[in-house]
Amino acid sequence: MAPACPSCGLQFGRGEPGYWLGAYFINLIAAEAVFVGVLGVVLWWTWPDPPWTALVWGLGAAMVVAPVALYPLSHTLFLAFDLLCRPPTSEDFDAPHEPARAVRRYS
Ligand SMILES: [Zn+2]
Repeated sequence: MAPACPSCGLQFGRGEPGYWLGAYFINLIAAEAVFVGVLGVVLWWTWPDPPWTALVWGLGAAMVVAPVALYPLSHTLFLAFDLLCRPPTSEDFDAPHEPARAVRRYS
């Protein structure tokens, strides 16, 4: 993930250590929502004879794939939620300070 928006310069981390913990939380909630949603729909659709083996393997695979697939979306959602609650200030638009790379010159 880029450290800042290439267009406006907004720092995505907003200068705080552990900032993305909220994005991990949203990712966890989204993956659990996929699990509960798929399980509920399949149970409702196939009751009284649900395909338990297919549910176990399908939802198991979905719980491996869903957090990876939803990871970028959860970052975007968390950043949007944080920008709603805490509007950006001028400090959020500073370019990240990267140390200059040491270059050895041979003359
Ligand atoms: Zn931007």
